[in-house]
Amino acid sequence: MNAWGIAATAVVIIIFLIWGGLKISRLVRDASKYRRTLEELEATKKEYMTILREQHGILFKFKKINGQYRYTMGDGKLYYMLGLTQADIGKTMEEVMPPRMHDYIREIYDRAWAGECLQYESGFNEHTYLNSVTPIIENGVTVEVLVVGSDITERKLAEQQLQETNLLLSKLANLDGLTGIANRRYMNDKLEQEWVLGAAQGTVPMSVILCDIDYFKAYNDTYGHLEGDSCLKRVAAALDEYELPEGGFAARYGGEEFIVVLPETDERTAVRIAAGLGKCIELLDIPHQASKTSDHVTISMGVATVIPSQTSSRELIIHHADEALYKAKLMGRNQLQVYSDSYN
Ligand code: GH3
Ligand code: MG
Ligand code: MG
Repeated sequence: MNAWGIAATAVVIIIFLIWGGLKISRLVRDASKYRRTLEELEATKKEYMTILREQHGILFKFKKINGQYRYTMGDGKLYYMLGLTQADIGKTMEEVMPPRMHDYIREIYDRAWAGECLQYESGFNEHTYLNSVTPIIENGVTVEVLVVGSDITERKLAEQQLQETNLLLSKLANLDGLTGIANRRYMNDKLEQEWVLGAAQGTVPMSVILCDIDYFKAYNDTYGHLEGDSCLKRVAAALDEYELPEGGFAARYGGEEFIVVLPETDERTAVRIAAGLGKCIELLDIPHQASKTSDHVTISMGVATVIPSQTSSRELIIHHADEALYKAKLMGRNQLQVYSDSYN
């Protein structure tokens, strides 16, 4: 090789070395960039997992292999509650979930695997989770399913407390404040319901008994308002505890007046019940020296029986009972009177 040849070879080698050096330094740069990206990804993952754990969340993925659902990734509170570690990755759902959940979970997984996005609630160790299940689809085929859940125990508790409070409020709204028995509002609602039911049949009678304590103003004047209250409570309790046919109930109609509603009850039975109620109040033996009809508290009653119909309203039966009660007062109190058409 002559001098030109050697020089040319040297130039080629130098160019090759420079090119190689550049390539290597780019590779080193790329590698460190790649490492930085990996570190950033790892940091992001850690941050995400920390947030998830702090929020008591659930995160896991599963894959259907040979008809069995296997965990491919898991983290979050549930994962730790189940006592799982990374070593359990690959286990079947049946191996990691409590048996009581198997059927339910399998059904949900099947639906998600078929492409459905759904939500379900699960209970675990007194915690309730709301889980969103999403299929991961590649080229039109489900390859994995992702479950992301959040702990909604506190929200659930708050909802439950609200429901209980609402129930209590609606109960209270239907009770009379002084006597604790049903109030007029409850009676109106119930009577309306019974009336509509009865009118639909059009053949079954219903009855009401309107009860009024005799000379109650005089009772208050004699014994004082507080004693009056206590007398009202005792009378109310006696009416409320009296055994009535199915669906029957007593309510405070207002002041010293009470009403007993008797669905599907004919006049004969209603009269028998009214007589029993009158006796029951007498047996309380509450002294009433200012009464002009007895030496103890008594009631007057008006009994009315009507077959509910589409063309009449529930006010009709109350109106009839009121007229009968008026007659009982006129006839000397401490008695029952039955409404009759002859009043008109
Ligand atoms: P009658 O024999 O005709 O029924 O006469 P009465 O005195 O019972 O009826 P009246 O309508 O004249 O008076 C009713 C009384 O009931 C007057 C009222 O102060 C009393 N009253 C109404 N509500 C209450 C209550 O919640 N507590 C007490 N202590 N008294 C009440
Ligand atoms: Mg009255
Ligand atoms: Mg009265």
